[in-house]
Amino acid sequence: MAIDPYALCPCGSGKKIKFCECGIDTHELERISKLIEGEQFVATFDRINTLLKKTPNAAWLLAIKGEMALRLGEAEVFQQTAERFVQLKPTNPLALAMQALSVLISGSAPLREAANYLLSSLAESAGTVPNMAAEALAMLVRAVEQSGNEIMLAPWDGLGFALLGSEWISNSARSKVGLNLMLKSASPKGQVPADAPWRDRYQEAQVLTQGFRHAQAESKLKALLRDFPGELTPLMLLFDVQRTLLDDDGLIATAGKLRDHEGLDAEHRAYYEAMILAAQNEKRMRVADWLAGYELPAPDEAIARFAQEASFSAVPEQALEFRQMIAQLMEEEVPPSHVYLLYDRPVHATSEQSEGEAESDGDVASDMGMILLYGKQVDKPARLYISVHKFRDYPQRVRRVLDDIALGAELTDIGSLDRFSKPVLEFLNRRRLVTGTGNPELVPPERLAPLLADEFPDVPLEEFGQRTIGELVQDPQHQWTVRALLMLLEGAQFIQVPPESIQQTFQSVGLERPAADQVPDPRELDGPKILALDRIAPDPLDDEQLTRLIHLALAFSAIRSARRAAEVVRSRESTWKDPSARYLAATVLSSEGSSTEERLQMLEILEELAPQVQDSPGKWVVQRFMLLAQSGRSHEAQDVMVKAMQKYPSDPHINRLVGELMAAQRGAAAAQPNLSGGGQEIAGGGPAEQAPGKLVIPGQEDEGEQQSGSGLWLPGQ
Ligand SMILES: [Zn+2]
Repeated sequence: MAIDPYALCPCGSGKKIKFCECGIDTHELERISKLIEGEQFVATFDRINTLLKKTPNAAWLLAIKGEMALRLGEAEVFQQTAERFVQLKPTNPLALAMQALSVLISGSAPLREAANYLLSSLAESAGTVPNMAAEALAMLVRAVEQSGNEIMLAPWDGLGFALLGSEWISNSARSKVGLNLMLKSASPKGQVPADAPWRDRYQEAQVLTQGFRHAQAESKLKALLRDFPGELTPLMLLFDVQRTLLDDDGLIATAGKLRDHEGLDAEHRAYYEAMILAAQNEKRMRVADWLAGYELPAPDEAIARFAQEASFSAVPEQALEFRQMIAQLMEEEVPPSHVYLLYDRPVHATSEQSEGEAESDGDVASDMGMILLYGKQVDKPARLYISVHKFRDYPQRVRRVLDDIALGAELTDIGSLDRFSKPVLEFLNRRRLVTGTGNPELVPPERLAPLLADEFPDVPLEEFGQRTIGELVQDPQHQWTVRALLMLLEGAQFIQVPPESIQQTFQSVGLERPAADQVPDPRELDGPKILALDRIAPDPLDDEQLTRLIHLALAFSAIRSARRAAEVVRSRESTWKDPSARYLAATVLSSEGSSTEERLQMLEILEELAPQVQDSPGKWVVQRFMLLAQSGRSHEAQDVMVKAMQKYPSDPHINRLVGELMAAQRGAAAAQPNLSGGGQEIAGGGPAEQAPGKLVIPGQEDEGEQQSGSGLWLPGQ
């Protein structure tokens, strides 16, 4: 195969081979390409290294060497090559992208540095984005997410869509249900008055951001703001620029100025406070907890006493994974010997009651906290750790039980017990069980709804000297904090409650929930405006608007909003008759959050309609099969599969599943797909990505499961 002289040069200059000045040798390139095609990787490396000895500055050789090292998972070679390449060609977009990826893979520098290299790469690449940059972008977004700095995702997500279009969807932060809507929205932009004396300077900064030169834009805006302090629009752009540069300190300072800015409306001021809360998530918005540790002279006595407490639920010994996770969080090598999940209502029959006497059926028991018990170790006495929310009378209740056992000296070092403290929203959505059902069950949304509004004002916040939200709202100084919390609650789409509940939660602290009266324009979903997806009432909308709302809600994985609109579609007879509207609504209603029966019914509808909307029926069959299997209805599951195999003999989804099932039956490693292909390992984010730290608390729904609700994505979205 001859080399096309008009193909882009592999050195990354963006020029065609024929016109590139990197000194590329087409004969050698051809030879190397053949070696790569023949998968003779060792020979390829040898050849490249020999050539590099002759021409150590040949960018094209470094480029190919880097690519190869990446594909083969040779992390060290990749890093050395990237380093050398970027030193040699500091404006080569490929070199810059490679260096960004190298920083991300090695984790040797703050993410901010990777972001800078990547922006420089995009700035230099003049339209053609190197593949390596796309890869670095995806990896950066994952790394930002894993770092917990989720507030920084939106600008990068926006970049992903702008540069890669629909290819970006699989990496997009928008598709994550667990991520707050508020963190998915782009930063709002201000108006530029025609006669503003800073107009030209502002526009220069804007042009710089469009060319990915954010660091320069930041300096320019800061200089502008020194001359015109407090100008609203430049401040808003500065916030966005700092968000893109992953500059937390800068961003928090700028957001503080915007929150206190009299020129902004209340919604936007609360929005910037919400951004501050989100950026400081680790430190702020934590529920005040009673955290303590004691020596335990008689562990057996404690174990016997706790067994009598019907609201203390002992985690079974088999839940080893869960205990190990706790050990990890506690930074202890040994897992606790006993773990008790504490509830505010009895959840099981005690040893003194007979089995049938299970407590008050159908009550909702909410998580109060946890007790960890460690047996005697060589160097440590037996110990007991307590983590209980200081909510209402929880500490007193637990104290009363502890009064019955002998506690030794209080421990001054309680390790990382504070890791169990929850942020407010997580607290409201905490582990709850419906009691008396034999098996712990998730609380349905309609049961959660009144609790949410009832509990919100009473939540004590660590950061505000344990004052409750209800007390804070009385203090004008903290009005933005409470509003910001409410906005974050609106954006928390994983909390599945009816809209009235959010309304009531606002009312519980004497505030009014802002309304939205029309389906928002997708281009205008920046800042707090994205909440319109949740605030709009779907009932008055016409069919066209309703469909638009569902599509928009799905694009941002606003599942609570999508579900509400889908339910309206189902309730309208004429709309439900329309196959495409029914397909859309059923897609939403078949996802998690509906009852199993309803989901099964919707999946059947989807299977039936799929051919009419040019979609594959097989994927819905597969989902129905999985759902039945998960609910322990294996006969029905089998039945579904057998029928489907006859009906759709060549459907790829069904065939893939059948293949996997057969492999699993043979005991092959079907459960563990081969992920160790070299390049994938190095680029795929490592083991953390394959095995996310799953919180396997009995009865608690894993948020990660919801996120992977791939059924939510529609063809052509
Ligand atoms: Zn070249």
